[in-house]
Amino acid sequence: MPSRSLRRACADVTCRVTFTAATPDQRYCPSHQVARDQAEDLARRARRPRASYAEEQRRRATVEAHVVIYGWWCPGWGTDHQPHASLDLTAHHVEAFGRTGSEGGPLAVLCRSYNSTLGDR
Ligand SMILES: [Zn+2]
Ligand SMILES: [Zn+2]
Repeated sequence: MPSRSLRRACADVTCRVTFTAATPDQRYCPSHQVARDQAEDLARRARRPRASYAEEQRRRATVEAHVVIYGWWCPGWGTDHQPHASLDLTAHHVEAFGRTGSEGGPLAVLCRSYNSTLGDR
């Protein structure tokens, strides 16, 4: 496809810059895209409640117990995520995925990368 098909105007209403999109999804000029990515990253971090030290310890113990029994193995999640070997396991709340910020609920072990996609929902 000719690259000029990705030529478009920035979606920011205050910005009339025309740019060549790196991907078909890019709606903002490069400088506005960077600003938006940073803002989204900050918002995502602010939404995710920080666990207390006791909760961190409990999650770590849950992962350690899982590794003793199953080894470094992500058990997967429903039909979305198939089980696979992973050295980056993390414990997450079975309910609410941290949305409520309440601690002490039942924990399940997942790889960190899939756990983070659940947290963003
Ligand atoms: Zn712009
Ligand atoms: Zn996984």
